[in-house]
Amino acid sequence: MLLGASAAKPWKVLIVVAHPDDEYYFAATVYRIAQELGGTVDQVIITNGEAGYRYSTLAEKIYGVPLTDESTGRSRLPEIRKKETLSAGRILGIRNHYFLSERDHRFTLDAGETLDDVWNCGRVRETLRGLLERERYDFVFTILPRESTHGHHQAAALLALETIAKLEPAEHRPVVLGAEPAADESHAPGFGGLSRFELTRTARPEPEFAFNRRRTFGLNAALRYEIVVNWVIAEHKSQGMFQNDAGKHGLELFWRFESGPPDAAERTAALAHAL
Ligand SMILES: [Zn+2]
Repeated sequence: MLLGASAAKPWKVLIVVAHPDDEYYFAATVYRIAQELGGTVDQVIITNGEAGYRYSTLAEKIYGVPLTDESTGRSRLPEIRKKETLSAGRILGIRNHYFLSERDHRFTLDAGETLDDVWNCGRVRETLRGLLERERYDFVFTILPRESTHGHHQAAALLALETIAKLEPAEHRPVVLGAEPAADESHAPGFGGLSRFELTRTARPEPEFAFNRRRTFGLNAALRYEIVVNWVIAEHKSQGMFQNDAGKHGLELFWRFESGPPDAAERTAALAHAL
């Protein structure tokens, strides 16, 4: 009888993020689940990524478009970034991508601004609810909604948490994990939740588990998951600054939100063990 990866549960995961390229936060974990453990991973990308034109200089040659000109960038980037995300998703083994094409207006630390004025939140919640009810995911991955992260990231996590808190019965809810990459353990301050948003409270301030991107495998242990993460970065050629993140973060850290199914702690421990 085969043991190990083949005996692990085929996990079902939904990624809920704001921007094309946000899959970077959990890229190695997603690769491990989808490509090696036989799991299924789908991804919802809420915005069209049009605000990512400022550092697109290098991609202007590749795409033959003056992307750093704001109006050109905003009109052409949604299609370009969709293709980049699909290419990154192919590497990671993501099954379905759902592009909701809400406006990526600008960088802000204020989640409220996005939720109140920029996105059609009712439509986002409806899409998430439909997917969650139909697919019955075991986990939802979001970016950890720290106050210091993009308000869009906070808003995406909030919309996922709000939608999931309303799913009944509670046994059908996925476990929601918030992720953050870190150079190493010493670069991971605790996170208890955003004071303004009760649903963002975590089960505890420390991460539940970490996935080590530098874990080795293959012949002579010469390969690392970091290679795959760097491929993902490289697919997002329109995002020039992002290219500097190659090799930067050795760990993907996961916090568990308190709201979730009754077996959230056990389910999370089982995933951590399988990874
Ligand atoms: Zn982002």
